[in-house]
Amino acid sequence: MNTSTTQEFDAIIVGSGPGGGTLARELTLRGQKPLVLEWGGNEPLKGSVGQAVDILGTPGKGMLFTTEGLAMARGITTGGGSVVYCGTAFEPDHEMFRRYGVDLAPDTQAARQELPIRKIDAAYMAPQSLLIQKSARDLGYSWENLDKYLVQENCEKGCYRCYYGCPNRAKWSSRWYMEEAVQNGAKLLNRAKATQILMDGDKAVGVAYKKYGKEHKAYAPKVIISAGGIGTPMLLRTAGIKEAGYNFFFDPLFVTVGVVPGLEGTGEMPMAAGVHIKEEGFMMTDMTLHQMMHMAFSAQVLRLGSAVTHRNTMGIMIKAKDALGGEITKRGIVNKRLSKHDKASLNRGFERAKQILKNAGATTVYKTWYIAAHPGGTAKLGEVVDANLQTRHENLYVCDCSVIPEAWGLPPTLAIIAMAKRLSRHLAG
Ligand SMILES: Cc1cc2nc3c(=O)[nH]c(=O)nc-3n(C[C@H](O)[C@H](O)[C@H](O)COP(=O)(O)OP(=O)(O)OC[C@H]3O[C@@H](n4cnc5c(N)ncnc54)[C@H](O)[C@@H]3O)c2cc1C
Repeated sequence: MNTSTTQEFDAIIVGSGPGGGTLARELTLRGQKPLVLEWGGNEPLKGSVGQAVDILGTPGKGMLFTTEGLAMARGITTGGGSVVYCGTAFEPDHEMFRRYGVDLAPDTQAARQELPIRKIDAAYMAPQSLLIQKSARDLGYSWENLDKYLVQENCEKGCYRCYYGCPNRAKWSSRWYMEEAVQNGAKLLNRAKATQILMDGDKAVGVAYKKYGKEHKAYAPKVIISAGGIGTPMLLRTAGIKEAGYNFFFDPLFVTVGVVPGLEGTGEMPMAAGVHIKEEGFMMTDMTLHQMMHMAFSAQVLRLGSAVTHRNTMGIMIKAKDALGGEITKRGIVNKRLSKHDKASLNRGFERAKQILKNAGATTVYKTWYIAAHPGGTAKLGEVVDANLQTRHENLYVCDCSVIPEAWGLPPTLAIIAMAKRLSRHLAG
């Protein structure tokens, strides 16, 4: 074993997504020097299909499948999921967090001021999103433009590369925070996959990791696990926290596709506008798929003819708040099934989306297969971590979507950023 026993860091953070990346930046702003272990690489983003496959398409790494066959993508790269996300910002459910002793409002407010979050301008919306919005509004929906993490002036018109990693520095990702952290003294180790939390009795003292097949160990006074909804519980179990990885959510979604003859759609910023129907447990937004994704999704539901009429299609995404359930097995398999209730919410959304698309001129409407979008709640506040995000072990913390305590159903990044800001104050004293 090749062992490096460094003591030069104030903290080790595992993962550089919105949780780990924000925390690294905040700690450096408070004069601390963290080591960030990141499984993925740090190559400049090209926005190419090939690079996206490497980041989120490799089976068993970026691409997981639930026991029910739902695809679940995660970004394994510096910036984690935020590199490939749709860049939509939703206010956290503050009441929910307050029930667990966590007030995220001040840090959410601070994050909103620092980040390029603002409602998308109509000028950056594709013809498809505008047509869907008009149709939805005609039918009485308050289909509003959404807040995006986006420097809109850097956007290329008709671009589809949000899904694949924005090369234009238009869509914000936690890579931006990691870059700042590194400039301020953090050390980022890429291709370093954490394998075990190192303990001294009841105290976390470091992390074992593998880099290019070799094993290493790093030590620091604080260890923070930010490996995402699936990675984090797997690591916590190596520290004896066996209850992590149960009863979680994964925010299932599908896209309702409408074929509109003569539409001639372009690439678009996904999730430009939409509506959250809270009482029915789902949200709807525009989401036209890039050609490759469209072909894959259409082929999955045997719509082979529609696969070749891509420019005439537009889509509405339905994302539901699923009930907590399931387990991450010892081998890291996501064993969770959609309940009858989850399917009923999604179907109610489908009926509404169908009506909006038909009203917009769609002659054919169908839905894609389900996808599991954001796994979280696998190391919940009040169960696995306390209000300071500390586990029952001294010096061992969690900072990512795993700590969300209840069923969710909305894009979670702003809540995660706010949590990381709050935790940095606690850690830096
Ligand atoms: C296609 C898509 C669209 C989305 N759209 C939106 C959106 O519009 N708005 C929104 O708010 N959210 C969106 N999300 C969800 C959002 O990306 C995630 O909720 C968010 O990234 C979670 O942040 P995190 O820090 O919890 O974990 P992650 O972003 O998953 O980061 C975890 C990091 O840990 C690393 N890692 C994992 N295991 C290890 C290990 N063992 N050792 C070292 N490193 C490890 C990973 O490589 C990764 O960098 C989307 C997600 C996807 C996939």
